[in-house]
Amino acid sequence: MEKYSNLIPQPQTRFVKIRCPDCGTTMVTYSHASIPVKCPKCGKVLVEPTGGKALIVAEIVEVLR
Ligand SMILES: [Zn+2]
Repeated sequence: MEKYSNLIPQPQTRFVKIRCPDCGTTMVTYSHASIPVKCPKCGKVLVEPTGGKALIVAEIVEVLR
C-alpha cells in the first residue's frame, strides 16, 4: 500500500481575539466561523464565512489556543 501523500491538512481551528477597526471593541470569535460575526457595539461585520477559513476583516489582537 502506498502511503497517503495528498492528505488534506486539517485546518487549525482556534479562537482569536479581534478588535473592531471602527470602534476599537475587542471580542473573541472562532477563526472558522460559519456565520458572519458582527461587532457587538457598532454592528460592523468583522468575520465573513467563506466556506473554509473565515475571512477576518478586523485586527487580530491575540490567537488563543
Ligand atoms: Zn465596532
